[in-house]
Amino acid sequence: MELANGAGCCCCDDRHVDTERPLDRMYEEGHEDPVSVITGLCRQFYQLGWVTGTGGGISVRQGRCVYMAPSGVQKERIRRQDIFVLDLETGEILQRPVSTPSLRVSQCCPLFYNAFRLRDAGACIHTHSPAAVMVTLLPRTQADAEFRITHLEMIKGIPLHGYHDTLVIPVIDNTAHEEELAGDMAKAMQRYPKSPAVLVRRHGLYAWGRDDVEAKTVTECLDYLFDMAVRMQHAGIDYTEPPVDCRQCYASDV
Ligand SMILES: [Zn+2]
Repeated sequence: MELANGAGCCCCDDRHVDTERPLDRMYEEGHEDPVSVITGLCRQFYQLGWVTGTGGGISVRQGRCVYMAPSGVQKERIRRQDIFVLDLETGEILQRPVSTPSLRVSQCCPLFYNAFRLRDAGACIHTHSPAAVMVTLLPRTQADAEFRITHLEMIKGIPLHGYHDTLVIPVIDNTAHEEELAGDMAKAMQRYPKSPAVLVRRHGLYAWGRDDVEAKTVTECLDYLFDMAVRMQHAGIDYTEPPVDCRQCYASDV
């Protein structure tokens, strides 16, 4: 297949992509194959209940190449040959699934691009995790349009955050179509520069990292924290305030 408009491949400088050329030959030397990363993580996340019913997904960037799954495909069954490759700067599709031409690129595309362009992310993960959805419905989250949590060990898994810090994740309202979230997501990312994620009310989570490893770690830590917040709320424990016996937090009061 020729590249659309004869554009050069961002990874290899070729003017054309050979139909027979496997996707795993397109990734940068020294990096893990992004296609294997996407298909592998989709299977793992399906097992966790994060990407069931074709929802959710993941995109990985290497250089100017953006690798992305198709829309409306069961995530645990995505094959290597189903992955799209797009140009980071132009959004142009450089390679599309040849064996299944009816496939269309993920509806999450403009949201993944927010992470790549606004945060220079190397990977972005979208989940429909029940914990992520539930946390957007908690009273404090509803009132403030942001999720706050502090004093839990897993906060240390979020870049730029320590145990005593308050982690704040912005929440935007859902829309009828996934791509319509892009504008509100970009605004939330600008308002919360320290946050590595945006929650979508009654929908799920977008989280990113410098690479797929960091994006996965961030997503796993956040999901744990969301689940803990729901449990603490149920137990009548305020997850937004330090515990009363935290000497470091209350040292100035003594
Ligand atoms: Zn979604």
